[in-house]
Amino acid sequence: MPERELRVCALYPDLMNIYADRGNLLLLERRCQWRGIGFSVRASGLGDELDPDGADLYYIGGGQDRDQRLCALDLAEVKRDALHAVADRDGVILAVCGGYQLLGHSYQLGDESLPGAGLVDLHTVRSDGPRLIGNVAIEVELQPGRPHVLAGFENHGGRTHLGPGVRPLGKVLKGHGNNGTDGHEGVIAGNVIGTYLHGPLLPKNAWFADWLIATALRLPDPLPALDDALEAAAHADARRAAGL
Ligand code: GLN
Repeated sequence: MPERELRVCALYPDLMNIYADRGNLLLLERRCQWRGIGFSVRASGLGDELDPDGADLYYIGGGQDRDQRLCALDLAEVKRDALHAVADRDGVILAVCGGYQLLGHSYQLGDESLPGAGLVDLHTVRSDGPRLIGNVAIEVELQPGRPHVLAGFENHGGRTHLGPGVRPLGKVLKGHGNNGTDGHEGVIAGNVIGTYLHGPLLPKNAWFADWLIATALRLPDPLPALDDALEAAAHADARRAAGL
């Protein structure tokens, strides 16, 4: 039995999982296993109470507006308090695209305003303009003086706006990011992270997967190195696709 285990809770895995976001969970599992760290994943679907101490990392993938509507109401009515408790104890919450849009105050779809989990001061508005689609690369500085590139793919109709003083996850090098205008991508507030990057995100950015594992388990970062030839090739490919 490994003495340590990364416990992941996937929120709405049957509804919020477009663009192979499940690959993110698979990569976390493999990188734990390869290092002798245990891994477990459980699902929390519509109507399920969320245990704020039951996982080290909570994950919400991308989704269509239709499915987001169901999840937004459930987040607001069933899981909101538990998610706030996770954030308050510095648990890791990672939300991609449609999931990211539900971290804030609201997702405005025409006349309808979907509630968010209220974890971060941000809001999203569905635009009548073109969807923001394409390969994307951002520069991220999780530790001062140690910039890294995240590369992936984005496809969203919503434009996200961060409140004053809220820190973006990164600065757009190529692509659209939060809203196509301010050069910001994603959000990071404590250990609550939102991003528009699919790809899937983690197989193309193994360094970020390791940072999430280390942060969620309170392990020293960097973790022991792995043979990352394939991951490095996927990352290089994603950078090239974005035109870096
Ligand atoms: N439905 C949302 C939008 O279009 C999110 C899409 C996604 O998760 N790719 O903005």
